[in-house]
Amino acid sequence: MSPPQPVAQPLTQPLAGAAAGNTSAGVVVGTGMAIPTITLHDQTTIPQLGFGVFQVPPPETEATVSTALEVGYRHLDTAQMYGNEAGVGAAIAASGLARDDLYVTTKLNNGFHRPDDARRTLHESLERLGLDRVDLFLIHWPLPDQYDGDFVTTWRTLVELREAGLSTSVGVSNFQPAHLDRIVAETGEVPVINQIEIHPYFPNEDARAANARHGIATEAWSPIARGKIADDPTIREVADRLGRTPAQVTLRWHLQRGDIVFPKSMKRERMEENFALFDFELGEADLATLSSLGRGEEGRTGPNPDTFNWIPE
Ligand code: NDP
Repeated sequence: MSPPQPVAQPLTQPLAGAAAGNTSAGVVVGTGMAIPTITLHDQTTIPQLGFGVFQVPPPETEATVSTALEVGYRHLDTAQMYGNEAGVGAAIAASGLARDDLYVTTKLNNGFHRPDDARRTLHESLERLGLDRVDLFLIHWPLPDQYDGDFVTTWRTLVELREAGLSTSVGVSNFQPAHLDRIVAETGEVPVINQIEIHPYFPNEDARAANARHGIATEAWSPIARGKIADDPTIREVADRLGRTPAQVTLRWHLQRGDIVFPKSMKRERMEENFALFDFELGEADLATLSSLGRGEEGRTGPNPDTFNWIPE
């Protein structure tokens, strides 16, 4: 029997920040259309669009995330290694939003895979975030050349932390198909999510297919290839024809493939642009055009998880 697949559903309630008719920099924002949610295999739901904070400098994080929450984002993606969880927490506290209206993800630092370190640092993350639980805790990288190649023990520890109620759901990031097969075979515990690099230059189909095979939802990191798609003549042609921007067309491509995205921006007008995705659709031909831009391994903007073994100082 094939595993249950994550299911995309429209929200029944529009998000609070989605006021009708706001405009900024010529982009229509928050048309009142709701952000769809994906139902994960543990029956929890996650907004399909969120906001990422990689490389948001810690002193600017509170203001940046506060702006993102004002724009309407309700799903925040941070990590211990980004060094900005405290700023995310300050923005959450200042927002006055109900805890249940937010979805918050953090990820385990590469230096803390040993069980005692993982336990201790999730408590520290929660303190910085001002939360008593996160919605999702991920192993950030598998690091197959570190810790004697034992990411299985680390995975068991995350499951234990879920059982202790410190994270509602647990998952992984940058896990290749063989890494997924191994943790599932050795523990019987299937991550709800695998967060991997995906954008038109690196569609990462093998890893997406492995996720689907296990019933794991796919999150696409660097969804607009760190901004590179803005200068792509092929994507610009599609965008111009539809009266949209290259970032909007690219994010729409992800959403229609069923993946979860959280573009990062420090600029309010781009946050609004990246949020205005729910009143248009790409046709099959345009989806295929974006998918044809893949460049194989050369398309990656980040490291290959099979060889990446970096541990912060
Ligand atoms: P993105 O693909 O989201 O691109 C962000 C870059 O694009 C920034 O330089 C931003 O600049 C620029 N940008 C944003 N919006 C637009 C726009 N509309 N038009 C043109 N340029 C734009 O890259 P990220 O690497 O930040 O990926 C998103 C998130 O994914 C991260 O923030 C993080 O949460 C997660 N991630 C996870 C990884 C993992 O290993 N699990 C690895 C990398 C990322 P500006 O800020 O100036 O607007």
